Amino acid sequence: MNIDKPQIGVLAVQGAFIEHERILQALGADVFEIRQLRDLNRTIDGLVLPGGESTVQGKLLRDLGLFEPLRAKIQAGLPVLATCAGAILLAEKIAGERDAHFATLPAIIRRNAYGRQLGSFFTENEVAHIGKVPQTFIRAPFFESVNDDVEILSRTASTNGNSDNANTEQIVAVKYRNQIALSFHPELNSDTSIHRYFLDLVAA
Ligand code: GLN
Repeated sequence: MNIDKPQIGVLAVQGAFIEHERILQALGADVFEIRQLRDLNRTIDGLVLPGGESTVQGKLLRDLGLFEPLRAKIQAGLPVLATCAGAILLAEKIAGERDAHFATLPAIIRRNAYGRQLGSFFTENEVAHIGKVPQTFIRAPFFESVNDDVEILSRTASTNGNSDNANTEQIVAVKYRNQIALSFHPELNSDTSIHRYFLDLVAA
């Protein structure tokens, strides 16, 4: 692998992928879009699963034949940065739903977990190894529980939850081996620290 120019594949079937591409390019990565199976013939050092609509993404991944090959790469250790819908794709279990998608991250995630009133909001929270990070939430999920070997990177302050969750802190960023999964959208702010952290993982 050429660590000066990591080759980052960004899943580009649906959702907010362009913003990730811009940030990663600005940080010196070679970025390519994954839209069909032949895009996976390239060297890939890292994968971004963007926000959007996880049900739509899951269906398109399967229809396009991308699902199994991507799952195998993640399982084999390909570094992944997953935001919002992307995090839902990774989770082993989606609360209240029968089926999961890649299921490579031992955690339970809840979709649209902040309810209607807090559908979208902005906050800042500490993220382990990084510091304070601006966090934009859009109909976001959070992690209801994670396995012991999943590292919790960030939690939202208790006031962000809907009434059911008012007195708890929600897990909004985790790391498990090669997978970083976030409830929020780091690509929608000018802060690039999350993407730099991801590229460090790719280089490691
Ligand atoms: N609510 C979306 C879902 O369930 C995720 C929202 C997002 O990615 N911003 O897939």
